[in-house]
Amino acid sequence: MSNSGNLEVLIPRCLCEIENTDNLKVDDENLASVFVAWEKGIVSELKPIDIENKKPKTILFPRFVETHSHFDKSFTFGEYPNFKSNYQEALSVNLEEHKTRTSNKVLDRAEKSLNLALKNGYRAIRSHIDTFENQDSCIWDDLFKLQKKYSSKLKLQFVALAPLEFWDTPQGEELAKKLSNKKGILGGVLTPPFINKIKVKRLLSKILLLADKYKLEIDLHVDESTIEPGAGIKLLLETVDRLNIKVPITCSHLSSILLLKNEEIINLGIKIAEKDIKVIALPLTNFWLLNRKDQSTSLYRPVAPIKQLQKSLVDVSIGSDNVQDPWYPFGNYDPFYLMSLAIPMLQLNPWERLTLSSILLSPSRLLNLNWDGLVKKGCPADFILLSAEKWADIFSNNLKRKVLIKGELYN
Ligand SMILES: [Zn+2]
Repeated sequence: MSNSGNLEVLIPRCLCEIENTDNLKVDDENLASVFVAWEKGIVSELKPIDIENKKPKTILFPRFVETHSHFDKSFTFGEYPNFKSNYQEALSVNLEEHKTRTSNKVLDRAEKSLNLALKNGYRAIRSHIDTFENQDSCIWDDLFKLQKKYSSKLKLQFVALAPLEFWDTPQGEELAKKLSNKKGILGGVLTPPFINKIKVKRLLSKILLLADKYKLEIDLHVDESTIEPGAGIKLLLETVDRLNIKVPITCSHLSSILLLKNEEIINLGIKIAEKDIKVIALPLTNFWLLNRKDQSTSLYRPVAPIKQLQKSLVDVSIGSDNVQDPWYPFGNYDPFYLMSLAIPMLQLNPWERLTLSSILLSPSRLLNLNWDGLVKKGCPADFILLSAEKWADIFSNNLKRKVLIKGELYN
């Protein structure tokens, strides 16, 4: 199959780098008309086109990066439903599911997720993997085999999502050592109520020191809650300050800080940026799961305040989180499903740089990918081509897309 070709397309202006911008036409929705050519899977030419008479009918996106998923539990909603749709019930059903979990079941769910993700246009995925005592011991070896199997098409990163206490055990240390050979990530949950703050800070110190020892990153579920706004991130910042070590940290969720006063959010954001802590906003699960009330509808949902955090220079990504499991019953590993819900939900303008940056560029930085996600000469021809001429076409139900991986059409 050919891995060379060329096309006239529209590309969001902030997602492409063009050497000569003379005569570049950019429409009111910030879509630039360009000619793109690729040879042997690499972009060889990117230049403005004359659109006096015609405008391209294809919009090109770089392939997407998913910063936060849980494919070890994806598609379990049928067998382990959560009809109350709240956090407590999700957790209790999740723990029930663990009892029947085997390495093979996880691999089946993972492969189903990965095949959908590839077809829908992802090039990299970070997935958390529930990590607990009495777990099927083959699981990590099997997951690393899976990582290798898909490596030519998709980059996979794993976070071992364990209770913080786990990282204070010999078993935790052993897993950290294992993960260090494969660039795995240490994960945990830092969510209120915090009854014993001294203990929490001690456990946070443990995981940070362990990450430092084995040169690992940390990705924590922080403040996915409606109570004690920002209590988790404050404990983390205090601990990082005290230890004075440099461990790459990602905070996933950071939902409840939305409930703080705007000035407090900005100040907290400055501290988060100073420590180079990255944030992932996860609006879909937050909107579905948090602040549920039986007898009334509230539109008040805590979700990471993206705009305030960006204003404080925090690198914020938007991720999907759960897919068809007790935490969130919908979704399909489709970046356009995420965009078409998250963009109106969070009042983000798709024609603005910071919006697209949080969906395409920040995620590439977060996963430390070789390609930053900007379409330019010399980048891989890793594209999604949409039959579309405007943003309204993208957020419709009948999206027609082609996915190109290293210049080749992927079916
Ligand atoms: Zn999660």
